[in-house]
Amino acid sequence: MMIALNKPLSPDLTKLAAYLEQVNESGWYTNFGPLHEQLTKRLEAYLGVENLLLVSNGTLALQVACKTLNINSAITTPFSFVATTSSLLWQGIDTAFSDIDRRSYNLCPKALDKTFEQDNNYDGIVATHVYGNPCDVESLAKVADKHNKKIVYDAAHAFDVKVGNKSVLNFGDASTLSFHATKVFHTVEGGAIIFKHKADFVKAKQLINFGLQADGTLGESGINAKLNEYQCAVGLTLLDDIESVIKHRAVLFNIYTDELKGVVELPLWHPQASLNGAYMPIYIAGARKQKDVMQALAKNDIQCRRYFTPSLDLAYSKQKSFGCSNSQNIAGGIICLPLHNSMSAGDVLTVTNVVKEEL
Ligand SMILES: *Cc1c(COP(=O)(O)O)cnc(C)c1O
Repeated sequence: MMIALNKPLSPDLTKLAAYLEQVNESGWYTNFGPLHEQLTKRLEAYLGVENLLLVSNGTLALQVACKTLNINSAITTPFSFVATTSSLLWQGIDTAFSDIDRRSYNLCPKALDKTFEQDNNYDGIVATHVYGNPCDVESLAKVADKHNKKIVYDAAHAFDVKVGNKSVLNFGDASTLSFHATKVFHTVEGGAIIFKHKADFVKAKQLINFGLQADGTLGESGINAKLNEYQCAVGLTLLDDIESVIKHRAVLFNIYTDELKGVVELPLWHPQASLNGAYMPIYIAGARKQKDVMQALAKNDIQCRRYFTPSLDLAYSKQKSFGCSNSQNIAGGIICLPLHNSMSAGDVLTVTNVVKEEL
């Protein structure tokens, strides 16, 4: 039996139909309807956040967050999914790259401080909690304060991750989530922005509805980035079981870690982080060895993916880079192994045995 890299959560159709019947009855299909309100409140309570604004995807979440915070130029991480950078460029944001930490694979606060010493002409920082591993949020906050920068966290991988007992989404001026079908929690397509300040939330809520203000008059020009009631119904249905899904994924992640410690390089996790088991990245130095492992996995009907590669400073070589050798190195040797809710502990051991045998 093939072991897939990922498998989206399937909503229970009976539950889902009950929500959709409510939509038919009310005739309210989109524009901040009752299911939108329910999902917002339940997510805020579950995640331990305030000022959560649902949006139509994680890419628009980044764009709307930057627009709301008046970020027109930004330093970002070269090691993330392409959307972290492409969304900023599409938004017309002057985007430059600063290197990641060699062990955590997240934006390096020390390198970032040096970057701003060299060139202080940027409004903000856009950092990804890559693979759901929280950035060094305390150090990044110090760098941001020192140089007077706003921070947006791309938290697309970090649904329900905590630092200590605080949601990772409570750091920075805004954090963005993706609820794409491939993510830990989803609404088929969708996302959210969590703002530190209520005023930013209010502004963003207008911006995602064409810039219309609550009284119907026109404010700043906006866009359409609303999440509709059908998608909220999927979210409400899946949210019922999300706690056990995340627990299971974290168990699988821990088995992987125990089995592969010392065999391959694993990212260094934030010491106070909780796990959501979103991804299982391993780093293998040497292109040859990496290729061998990938071939051995394929031969055993196990999917894997080189993810994320290439380093985004190379993909967007016209953008300014302040030196990203760590990111280039990691992007060259990273592989993600299968990790999703439909896997068993036995599946994980099947995968780790193939990797161990090959190495
Ligand atoms: C998935 C993802 C996005 C984009 O989210 P969409 O909802 O697919 O638009 C952005 N950043 C990261 C890090 C992602 O993994």
